[in-house]
Amino acid sequence: MLVNSIYQTIGQTPLLRLKMAVPNGSRIYAKLEMFNPGGSVKDRLGMALIAHGREIGKISEGTTIIEPTAGNTGIGVALAAQQYQLPVKLVVPAKFSFEKQTLMRALGAEVINTPAEAGIKGAIAKAQALAKEIPNAYVPLQFQNPANPDAYYQTLGPEILADLAQRPINAFVAGAGSGGTFVGTARALQERYPAMQAITVEPEGSILNGGPEHAHRTEGIGVEFIPPFFKQIQVDQVQTISDVAAFKYVKWLAKNLGLFVGSSSGAALAASLKVAAELPAQSTIVTVFPDSSERYLSKKIYD
Ligand code: PMP
Repeated sequence: MLVNSIYQTIGQTPLLRLKMAVPNGSRIYAKLEMFNPGGSVKDRLGMALIAHGREIGKISEGTTIIEPTAGNTGIGVALAAQQYQLPVKLVVPAKFSFEKQTLMRALGAEVINTPAEAGIKGAIAKAQALAKEIPNAYVPLQFQNPANPDAYYQTLGPEILADLAQRPINAFVAGAGSGGTFVGTARALQERYPAMQAITVEPEGSILNGGPEHAHRTEGIGVEFIPPFFKQIQVDQVQTISDVAAFKYVKWLAKNLGLFVGSSSGAALAASLKVAAELPAQSTIVTVFPDSSERYLSKKIYD
C-alpha cells in the first residue's frame, strides 16, 4: 500500500476472529485498533475533534488545543494537530502510563500533569482553567463533544458492518472511558441490527454498576460520571471486570494468539466471554481492542 500521508493509515483496521473456545459455540471478533499509526482507537477521535473544531470555527491558525486525557486521546489529538502546526497542551492525571506521555511529547505536545487523586475531573478542570488564561485556545473536550461518538459512528461502526458482510451481530461489547467508542459504534450497529445487544465494559472501581469508586490497574476505561453520550443508545448491560481478569486475558492473548494488547482489551475479552455464556448458541459478538500493551510495559503488564 503506497500512501502519501500518515493520516491515510488511520482506520480500516483488521477485524480478527479470535481462535479460542467460546461458550455456546459462539464467535468473538475483535477490531484491532493498535494498527492505527498513533497506536490506538483514539487516532480516529483526534482527526474528528480537529476537523470538527475547524468546521465550527473554533480552530484557526495558531489556535492552542488543550485537552484532558488519559493518554490515547492526547496522542490522537497531537497527531491530528500536527498537520496544521497547532500547538497542543495535554492535561493528564499523573497515574497514566509514562510511555503514553512520552509519545505525546514526541509528537510535539506539552504534557501537564494533574494529581492522580483528582482523577479525570481534576484534568478537565485544569484544562478549562488553562483555556481561560491562554488567548486563542480551544478545548475539544472529548467527554461531552458530540464529535466523539460521531467519529466512531462514521468510521468504526461502518467498518465492522462491512468486515462482517451480511453476518448479523448479536452483541457489541466495548469498554467506556469517555464512552465515545462504545456509543458511536453501537449506534451504527444497532441501526442495522436493532435486536443487537449493546454491552459496555468497566473495571471494578468505576461507577456504572453502582459499585464504589476506587483506583484500578485497568487503564483507559472506567468512569467517574455517567458519560452523557449514553443517552444516545439503549445500553443493555454493563459488565464489570476485575483487574485480575483483565490482565489474565492480556497475557493469554499474547501467549496464544500473538496479540500485544492493553488491559482494556483484556477486560473487553473477559466481558465478551461472559456475554457469550448468556447468549444463544452460535452468536456473533463483536468487541474492540483499543490499543497495544507496548505502551504499558513500564506498568509491568506481563509481570
Ligand atoms: N481503552 C483505552 C486503552 C483507552 O485509552 C480508552 C480511552 N480512554 C478507552 C479504552 C475507552 O474509549 P472511550 O473514551 O471512547 O470510551
